[in-house]
Amino acid sequence: MAAPLAAQEESRPEAPPPIIDVHFHATLESSSLGDPICPNPQQFLALDPRDAPGGFFGWSQEDCSPRLYPAPPGEYLSTLVAEMERLNVTAVVFGDPESVRAYQQAAPDRMIAGTTFTSEPDTDKAAELRRLEDLFTDGGFKVMGEIGLQYQGLSPSDPSVDEYFALAERLDIPVAIHMGTGGSGRANVLMPTFRASLGDPLLLEDLLARHPNLRVQIMHAGYPMIDNLLALLQANAYVHVDIAGLIWSYPIEEVNRYIERIVDAGFGDRVMFGTDQVAWPGLMAHSISIIQNAEYLSPQQKRDILYNNAARFLRIGSEVDN
Ligand SMILES: [Zn+2]
Repeated sequence: MAAPLAAQEESRPEAPPPIIDVHFHATLESSSLGDPICPNPQQFLALDPRDAPGGFFGWSQEDCSPRLYPAPPGEYLSTLVAEMERLNVTAVVFGDPESVRAYQQAAPDRMIAGTTFTSEPDTDKAAELRRLEDLFTDGGFKVMGEIGLQYQGLSPSDPSVDEYFALAERLDIPVAIHMGTGGSGRANVLMPTFRASLGDPLLLEDLLARHPNLRVQIMHAGYPMIDNLLALLQANAYVHVDIAGLIWSYPIEEVNRYIERIVDAGFGDRVMFGTDQVAWPGLMAHSISIIQNAEYLSPQQKRDILYNNAARFLRIGSEVDN
């Protein structure tokens, strides 16, 4: 026999404290990325060029429990939204406007829209600027990203893309720039224009000097260039970092050491939680647990990373109590 309604309500667990994930991708199907993964692998494998380059990822194939699986075909977005509800997550979701809107329709209160410019050489820049201005004024888009200039061999301070950053500054829209980690051990094979050196956080300095009011989110925290990242954070108080991607892509001791270094240097209010969610719905709970289990963080620092810093950066209101 079913319990009376009041009793059911009483036994319903309280929603966990809110979390903001500042780095999602509007992937519509996870099956394209295929395989189950083991997060935080312990090794990047050496290869001989005589051998086939292998899979997309350069990490060792370790066994783990639990593995993270892609959702069944056609169920990625619904599975992801169910996880967001369960974990009380709101996310900034990046992608082409149509895909981002599909995410917003699936969970209107949990998706913050982000999109960016195309910087291919034959782009009609005037038209691209108009398109973006519409999206960021009337279209409901709130963040310009993910800006992946590093994959194209361009510095974020390259003059050829300056007008897009000028637009973001004028519209008071934060920009989210991929910096640091990438290539997955296969850069020269699969993405020959990618340059690790162009992920150096100090390459943002000219951009920040030209646009002093620009709010910048350094995606992937410029990993692993910690010294240059700290120098930039020290010099520019508007700059924040996200720990997406790196939080599950590298050995767990290294991940914790990197985040701890940023926090211990006095920048605990600049670190924002993110996943770089693209394929595996279980990645979110795994990534959150890394922060929640971090012995080097106080309860307040955990809440700052999981929610407060992003809420302030995105101007969406802060928690009343922690
Ligand atoms: Zn990225």
